[in-house]
Amino acid sequence: MLPDLDVLGFGFGISYSSMLGHRGVSHSLAFALLLSILVTVFAFRAVRWDGIRVRIWLFLFVATASHGILDAFTNGGLGVAFFAPFASERYFFPVTPIQVSPIGWGFFSDRGLRVLASEMLWVWAPSVAVFGASVWFTRLYRARRMRDPVEP
Ligand SMILES: [Zn+2]
Repeated sequence: MLPDLDVLGFGFGISYSSMLGHRGVSHSLAFALLLSILVTVFAFRAVRWDGIRVRIWLFLFVATASHGILDAFTNGGLGVAFFAPFASERYFFPVTPIQVSPIGWGFFSDRGLRVLASEMLWVWAPSVAVFGASVWFTRLYRARRMRDPVEP
C-alpha cells in the first residue's frame, strides 16, 4: 500500500503526471528495489534472519513491485512509470481488465463496489488459487518426503 501514499501529493499541488505524482516514482521498479533493500537491511538485522535475508528481500521486492504491475492492468489513470526516475514514460499492459479505483472517498460508492468486484475477480480469486495450489503442493511434497526420506 505504501506506493499509493503518492496521492498525498495532490494536496501539495503535485500533478498526477509528475514524476512524483500518482503512479510515478513510488510505483517504479527502482522504488521497489530501494524500499525492499532498506527494509531488509534495517528491519531484519537480527542474527535470526541470517541465511534467509535474500529471500526476505526478494519477497519484499516482488510484493512492492506487484503494486505497480497490478495498477498497469487497470483501465484508468495515466499508467505506471515503471522506469522512473530514469524515464518518465508511463505504461499499461495490453489488457486492462481491472476497474481503476476512484481516488479518495469515491471508493465508498457504487463505483467502489464495482471496483471491489473487479479486484475480487482479477486479483483475489487468482491469488487464492495460487495460494491454495502452493499449500497443496507443499503438503504433497512433505508427505512424499516422510514416505520416502532422503538418505543422509
Ligand atoms: Zn497504485
